[in-house]
Formats: sequence, structure tokens, C-alpha cells
Amino acid sequence: MLNNKLYFIVANDQLLCSTSGHLIVLNENEFYCLNLHIILQYSVVANKDEQYWVVAINSQEIPGYQWLNLRSQLGFISDPKFQLAGRALQTLRWHIDHQYCGRCGKPTVPHPRDLAKICTHCALDFYPRISPCIIVLVTQGDYCLLARHTKSHQEIFSCLAGFIEIGESPEQTVVREVMEEVSVNVDNIRYIASQPWPFPGQLMLGYLADYVSGDIIVDRNEILAAAWYHYNQLPNVPSLATISGCLINTFVQQRQALQISIK
Ligand SMILES: [Zn+2]
Repeated sequence: MLNNKLYFIVANDQLLCSTSGHLIVLNENEFYCLNLHIILQYSVVANKDEQYWVVAINSQEIPGYQWLNLRSQLGFISDPKFQLAGRALQTLRWHIDHQYCGRCGKPTVPHPRDLAKICTHCALDFYPRISPCIIVLVTQGDYCLLARHTKSHQEIFSCLAGFIEIGESPEQTVVREVMEEVSVNVDNIRYIASQPWPFPGQLMLGYLADYVSGDIIVDRNEILAAAWYHYNQLPNVPSLATISGCLINTFVQQRQALQISIK
């Protein structure tokens, strides 16, 4: 028996959602009832029970639905569903952006087995691009270093983060980014957790690091303000749906456990 087909519908990089704001995944019957004019359609992932597709259409009013961006779903829907929606959007963007070979300019063709495209002329493979990044919470005893980023639209204080450069290990990136952004030296870098971050295609590797030396001097291009905060008196921080929120929560729990063991 064929597995169930399920559809994410995308227009202008926005996802079809219910009027209550929840991401909608249409089953085959619902999909065909809407009678949408399909521009592009790609397989996202398949298992023995389900086969997910992403379908691009022109932006249009669909009664009973609304269009929302993926960010609106962060912490609003389950993590697995959020990751799947992120994969759907990234799959669509990747197909659109890799129709031609970057070396010779000829059209690419699908890889026979992998999620990849091939230029048969150059014998080159193109796999979906993922950008590895580090995100780090620098700590000093009961205090952690939080920063307000220039790109953030809200008054929210978060960890430091940056892209891993060619030839760097993630730990080297942690040391470099912290120095560049706040002029502080760190060591004892410990990996905590990771998170795919589909805005647009990062893989965040999360670390804690110990402060060693230096006074905070912020790089104004990336950081508006940065300061040390006691784990009991934190400012507005990111939600637990983000890896930044998880790193901060890990630190707070570690300090609280230490206080209890001292008592
Ligand atoms: Zn080529």
C-alpha cells in the first residue's frame, strides 16, 4: 500500500496556516479539493507511513486560511513539526537556487539516489547547503554574558553566535567570535546541544565557555550592548524553543544545583 501524501503549501516564502495561526499540512484529499495552481512541487522526506511534499503556488487569498512565516511557528508547534516545516522551506529554496551549475552554467539534473543535483557536463554534485554556526554562553561564576544584537527587533538579550569559517573547528570559532564581538578571552569550551535553524539554513552548535580575561568592549556592527547578568536576575532572554534559551537555562540549572549542594 502506498504511504500517505502530505503537503506543505508555500507562497512568497510563507506557509499556509489556519486562521488560528497553526501551520497546516494538507492530506491528499484536502490538497486536491483546494484545486491550487502548482508552480513547483518537491519531495521533502518520506518514511514507510508518510510522504511529505512542499508545493509552491502564487500568493493568493484562500478562504479559511492565512499565510505566515516559519518564525511565527517557533515554540507554537511541536519541535518535530517545526523541523519538518523548516526542511520543506529549505528544500524548496535549494531547488530554486540550484537549477544551474555554478561552474559552467548548464542546467542541473536530479541525483538518482540522494537529495542532490548533478551537472553532468562538469561531473559535479550539489547538495543542499547547510551553514554551521556556533552559539555560546560565556559564564563567570554566577554570571553569564548576554548581548543585545543589532539584528534583533525585540529588546531581548541572548548568547553570542557566528558562522564557522573555512578551516576552523567549532571551538576555534567560539574563541574568535567572542573576541570579535565583545573583546573577551574564553576557554574550557563545552558542547551542550545543537539545533537546525532554518533562517535560512544554519546548523547551530551550542556551547558553554568560561571567561578568562578582558573587559567587555562591544563590536557595534553586531552588538548593541553586552553585560554580565546574575543567574537570578536575568533580563528578557530567548524562549526555550531556541538553543540560546536552552543554553541559558542549562547555566541557570547548573548554578541552582550548585547552590543546593553547598547548602
Ligand atoms: Zn557544470
